[in-house]
Amino acid sequence: MFSKFYYNQRALETLAAFTTGGRFPHAVLLEGPAGSGRRTFALRMAAALTCRGEKPPCGSCPQCRKVLAGQHPDVELYGGDGGRRSFHIETIRGIRQGAYIRPNEAPSRVYILAGAENMTVQAQNSLLKILEEPPEHAVFILTAENRNLLLPTILSRLQVIRLDRLTPEEVAAALAELLPEQPAEQRRWAAENSQTIGQALTLLQGGGQGKVIAVADRVLEQMAHGSEYALLAELEKLGRKREDLLELCRVLRQKLSRQLTQAVAGEGALSPRQLMRALESLDTLLLQVEQNGNVLLLTALLAGRLKAAMGSR
Ligand SMILES: [Zn+2]
Repeated sequence: MFSKFYYNQRALETLAAFTTGGRFPHAVLLEGPAGSGRRTFALRMAAALTCRGEKPPCGSCPQCRKVLAGQHPDVELYGGDGGRRSFHIETIRGIRQGAYIRPNEAPSRVYILAGAENMTVQAQNSLLKILEEPPEHAVFILTAENRNLLLPTILSRLQVIRLDRLTPEEVAAALAELLPEQPAEQRRWAAENSQTIGQALTLLQGGGQGKVIAVADRVLEQMAHGSEYALLAELEKLGRKREDLLELCRVLRQKLSRQLTQAVAGEGALSPRQLMRALESLDTLLLQVEQNGNVLLLTALLAGRLKAAMGSR
C-alpha cells in the first residue's frame, strides 16, 4: 500500500529530521493549498512531539492517541472562522498566558494555529513577542495557504514546510510505480481525473468511486437537515471496507472545503464555523482510519462528530 503522505515525502523527511535530530524548531509554518493535508500534518507533528513509541509518531501509544482524538492536555488547536482577520489578538493573549506554564505530561507544549493568514495584524504582532523569546518547551505550528500573507517579521521566525497537491504528471508518475502492470493509457486517464493518488487508485481498481460520491452527497444533505441517526444510516450504506471509508473522508473533505469557500461568500446552508468544525473532525478521523482504527466504530464516530460540528452557527 502506498504511504499515506506519498505526495509529501519531502515534508515527511523534514519532520523525521526534526524528530531524530532532537532539535525541533520552536515555530513551523505548514504552507499549502486546501486539500494538501495541512491540518493532518500538523497533528502528525504534534503527535511526533509527544509520542513515547519507538518511531514517533507511532500513532498507537496513549500520547499519540490523545493527540489524534484532540484530547491531549499539552496540544492546543486554534484557528479563525475561515475569513480574513477572523483570528483575533484575544486568542493569542490567551496562548501567551498559557505558554509559559510547564507542559502536563509531554516534553513540549504544542500550539497549532490553523489558518494563520487569518490573524489580524495585532494578533500577529502579539504572537511575534512569544516567537522572539519562546519558552523552552513551547512549539508553535502554524498553517497557511500562502506564507506571503503573514508579516515578514513573523515569517522570519518560522521554518517553512511546503505541502503540495500533486500535478497530474506527478500522480501519473506515482501510479507508474504503484501499478506497473496497468496500461499507461489508463494510468494517465486516472491521473487526469483525480487530485490525489488515493482517488486515482480507486478509479483504476474499480473501488466504487461512484458509490462513495453518492454517499458523500447524501451525508452532506443529512448534516445540514437530518438527524445523527439518518446520517449514520447513510454512512452504513458504504459497507465495511477501510478503503471506502478513507475515500469517503477524502471526498467529503474536498466537498466541505468547496462549501467553505462558498460559505465565506455568504452562500450555502452551512456557516463557515460549522464547516471548519466539520473539516477539523474529518481530518482527525481520517488519520484514525489510516492508522487502522476499527472501521465500524469509526463510521459511528464520524456520524457523531459531523453532527456535533453542526452545533451553533
Ligand atoms: Zn506514539
